[in-house]
Amino acid sequence: MHLDFLQAAKDIQDEIIEIRRHLHQHPELSKKEYETTDYIQSYLIGLGLDAKKIQDTGVVALIEGQEPGPTVGLRADIDALSIMEATDLPFRSQNPNVMHACGHDCHTAALMGAAKILVKYRQYLQGNVKLIFQPDEEQGGGAKHMIAGGVMENPKVDATFGAHMNPLLPVGSVGIMPGKAYAASNPFEITVKGKSSHGAKPHLGIDAIVIAAQIINGIQAYVSRQVDPLDNALVTVGTIQGGTGRNILAQEVKMAGIIRTLDPALRKKTVETLPEIIGGIAKAMGGEASINIIVSSSGVFNDAARTELVGNSVKKLLGEKSLIHMDNPTMGTEDFGSYLELAPGSFFQMGIRNPEKGAVHPLHSDQFMVDEDALPLLSALHVQVVFDYLAEAKGK
Ligand SMILES: [Zn+2]
Ligand SMILES: [Zn+2]
Repeated sequence: MHLDFLQAAKDIQDEIIEIRRHLHQHPELSKKEYETTDYIQSYLIGLGLDAKKIQDTGVVALIEGQEPGPTVGLRADIDALSIMEATDLPFRSQNPNVMHACGHDCHTAALMGAAKILVKYRQYLQGNVKLIFQPDEEQGGGAKHMIAGGVMENPKVDATFGAHMNPLLPVGSVGIMPGKAYAASNPFEITVKGKSSHGAKPHLGIDAIVIAAQIINGIQAYVSRQVDPLDNALVTVGTIQGGTGRNILAQEVKMAGIIRTLDPALRKKTVETLPEIIGGIAKAMGGEASINIIVSSSGVFNDAARTELVGNSVKKLLGEKSLIHMDNPTMGTEDFGSYLELAPGSFFQMGIRNPEKGAVHPLHSDQFMVDEDALPLLSALHVQVVFDYLAEAKGK
């Protein structure tokens, strides 16, 4: 029995695009995805699934196959960004300063389409599929929150797969990458304390701004001198605030930024070393400084065999030419890695680039657009990956 998932997705293409446009018009910020989750839940219930809310603004639903077997997790993130949409699309955002500029509306719509196809072919499933609609990806806490809520248990998820829209890849193509694919992130805040004095008498005070400048240089020197140049650490100080007047030595400076690393050992080393550098520099200059480092997204580490499986599914579904082997990981972050730590799988990239449709702008741009032809392809690919994974597991 040959199941044509691409045809099944094309049959419901209009519906998938309609869903995506609805979501695009009604975007909601991280942790506030209330209408979005109501919308997803009622659609899944309409398919006959027992879709449940989880952790306030997440949705999870299980599709049980005809035969017992492993459980595959498919995840879509559902949150939008605080950006004022600048496109003139007829379905542009109706919520001022909120926009689906990262394609999460597409991820969600494609997974809803996949749900419909999976329900249609349920009798051929040799295992289960857990649909995970996750809030709060952009702020980096959603995946861990869903996991804490038990999304990976009952039944236990054995493998997880997910995708992201990618405006660098042409529509119709799919990018895969085994191993390290996205960086881990550790946001931080630094507080430098000095002592105010008259700007003309600096020796009577401790200048927190000069200390902050040395700290910034010290951090960059750590990256260039204490990290193997063939390894990757990136530390960016993105904000700096301090001082009260041009003729006053600043008493306090606050800075915030993010540490990004690909290698877990380097992540540990960086998190351990920065407090010493920062504290040491401030002390040497007579002041004090502390850093508060938050543990945020784990990096995305794609399982080699399961990434190959996705590659084979792409070839089967879309042809050899559609598959792109991506060479370089990104120092960007994506909280999908938290699922992979529990249930290895793969996170792949869906091409959406098409200059003819204006789909050329980067993620998080107020002009961001997608070629919606990618949506049914992702729905079909989700289903193909599920069937290929379950068939392979059965054969083992
Ligand atoms: Zn994003
Ligand atoms: Zn995103």
